[in-house]
Amino acid sequence: MRPSRHITRRRLVVVALLALFGLAFTQWRTAIQRNRSIPDEPFQIAGNLYYVGHTGLASFLLTGPEGHVLIDGGFPEHAPLIIESINALGFDIRDVKILLNSHAHSDHAGGLKELQDSSGASLWVSEGDADVMASGGKGDRAVGFARHLWHLGALRFEAPRIDRTFTNGEIVRLGPIELTAHVTPGHTQGCTSWSFPVEVEGESLLAVSICSLTLFPFVSLDPEAYPGIKADWQRSFERLRNLPADIFLASHTAWFGLDGKRRRQQEVGGSAAPFVDREGYHSHVDRAERTYLDRIAPNE
Ligand SMILES: [Zn+2]
Repeated sequence: MRPSRHITRRRLVVVALLALFGLAFTQWRTAIQRNRSIPDEPFQIAGNLYYVGHTGLASFLLTGPEGHVLIDGGFPEHAPLIIESINALGFDIRDVKILLNSHAHSDHAGGLKELQDSSGASLWVSEGDADVMASGGKGDRAVGFARHLWHLGALRFEAPRIDRTFTNGEIVRLGPIELTAHVTPGHTQGCTSWSFPVEVEGESLLAVSICSLTLFPFVSLDPEAYPGIKADWQRSFERLRNLPADIFLASHTAWFGLDGKRRRQQEVGGSAAPFVDREGYHSHVDRAERTYLDRIAPNE
């Protein structure tokens, strides 16, 4: 019968893709581990905003007189490197009072447990990601069939303690530091983009760090990976498009061209100007939406 043959073929495709994805993930992970002894140099992006991430996985430090906020913890092996980077800039991990996260995947949440233990900071997690975070990456339905990779260890991380959960629009304050949570679900159910003002040469500019607009390979086979995923993606594109971003940031450095911008910054004597990139921000969102529409909703 046609339907059962169709299902069998679909299963085969899924198993083959799962194997390929697992292999690609393992290779990427090994490459990152090999690079762990070469920490990226931390630097000041603008005002009180510093880059302290490693091997393409962004971590941002926002400093203030009443303590600091740290966004994202990389893979588990990145936690000590992030702490070294914070030290190298003249700050102290023990002054980090609030830990934030883009989303509960092992490459951004893996180091949070160790960073939390070293700092004593409170970890804020969006309601949509709380269960996956609390179980160390398990049960992430947004990745579709790839969620089975958790059992192979690929998506696992040590679960940190969740101190507070939030929903879209929540404001996180620490002294003069103020961040707004923009829940932009789809990549995960609670994927959070963060916006915050940064002082640049006497002017207040809005920095926006995009969580992730990447579709997992299996999601096109399973467009209803969780109920409402399509509406979530559409809401996320709309939310990001409506933000008046001046400084474009994201959870992976390649998306906002950190290396090139850093080089230009060094050429112009440390000015934040190369990081002011309104056009880059909007074209990233537009490109991601076109990819989404081509793969998930070509006829909508
Ligand atoms: Zn991710």
